[in-house]
Amino acid sequence: MNIAFTKRKRGELYELTSKIIDEYLDNSGDNPVTPRIDQSEIRERTRNYNFEEPIEFKHAIQILTKLLRDGNLHSSNPRYMGLFVPKVLFPGVIADTLTAAFNPNLGSWGHAPFPVEVETYLIEEFGRKFGYSLPNIDGVFTSGGAEANLNAVLCALQAKYSDYWKIGLKGRDPVIYCSTESHHSLLKAARIAGIGSDSVIRIESSTQLTINVRLLQEQIEKDIANKKEPLMIVGTAGTTGAGAFDDLTELSRISKRYEFWFHVDAAYGGALILNDELKGPLKGIELSDSITFDLHKWPAAPVGTSIFLTSNNEVLHKLFRISADYMPNENRKVVDPYAHSVNWSRRPIGLKVYLTLLMIGWQGYSDLIKHHFETGNLLRQLLEDRGWVVMNETVLPLICFIHPKLIGENERVQIVCDKLVESG
Ligand SMILES: *Cc1c(COP(=O)(O)O)cnc(C)c1O
Repeated sequence: MNIAFTKRKRGELYELTSKIIDEYLDNSGDNPVTPRIDQSEIRERTRNYNFEEPIEFKHAIQILTKLLRDGNLHSSNPRYMGLFVPKVLFPGVIADTLTAAFNPNLGSWGHAPFPVEVETYLIEEFGRKFGYSLPNIDGVFTSGGAEANLNAVLCALQAKYSDYWKIGLKGRDPVIYCSTESHHSLLKAARIAGIGSDSVIRIESSTQLTINVRLLQEQIEKDIANKKEPLMIVGTAGTTGAGAFDDLTELSRISKRYEFWFHVDAAYGGALILNDELKGPLKGIELSDSITFDLHKWPAAPVGTSIFLTSNNEVLHKLFRISADYMPNENRKVVDPYAHSVNWSRRPIGLKVYLTLLMIGWQGYSDLIKHHFETGNLLRQLLEDRGWVVMNETVLPLICFIHPKLIGENERVQIVCDKLVESG
């Protein structure tokens, strides 16, 4: 098998691929939002190839494209209204392609100086946007909000127990506070960190679906009396279910009083920071010790593009510093990602955000947020005009609605939802 791809061959394959992408994006309304095929069919079609007989290159690309079309959700369909997997902004497609072709490895600065500097620069820029100030801004790009939340738990442990990196949890009993509406990735983060999900105390939410501060205070006092070791408070800025914003200033005040780590999970709602008029609900986020922000949600970068930010510029280094003979020499003036994060080898993540910012600037992001905000308001208006009831209160374009005839009829609601999804 000749695995050399000649210049001519490559040219043909690029041409075909770019035609496929163009057609896909131009006719995105043609594909049903949800896949129409069942599991047995998609599995059978996936396993139709045993890799014994190589397939002609163009034909192989066509096979892949057909399966991507039939066996995938199409967020690029204009009628797709899910918010957590948006249609990607085009610069991200280009940057992801270039990143793959240049095949860099972000492990060490020495092997990828430009991609590392891009991420360092963007961490500073986003840190500043959220109201942190240099030289205290630090952070890392992560695969998603779940990994960013894991970083938050690990950093909180390191900040509380200075020898955590060495001896771990030995004899320690830390607990984490968040609301019942907070994201379930925190439970996994607690499992991975070795403190277990029972250590995550989910405080009852208020009727606005935000953390009930009074209950939080009571729980803290009780836990301290019971010799538990409160570690951190997690505020959610834009809950996944209903877009509610915890009172970040109040949570920061409580965290400071007890000396807990204060993390804000702003995976989705954090994007409001990109629009000066709309960022009000994030007030207090600048007082946090760390922030989770997904650029692959509202700002529409291809998955996985997330950032973990912290205003403690020592903790990541204390937690992850390590040296190995086979890695390029540690140079104090640069940040080696492998010695600053969970990952060792990984692909650059920041380049797609860098290219997007080069192409559309902060103004482009700001306009995107404003447009979606207005679209959300329009949808609310249209629903209410037609007699539907909007159930949640948020500035985010995240709208929970029900028909008055369906209130309390959960089984029928499920049937309506299933039919909607089935219809594509
Ligand atoms: C989506 C979400 C997460 C998880 O982020 P991933 O990027 O899917 O890993 C965490 N927290 C909140 C509030 C979210 O909305």
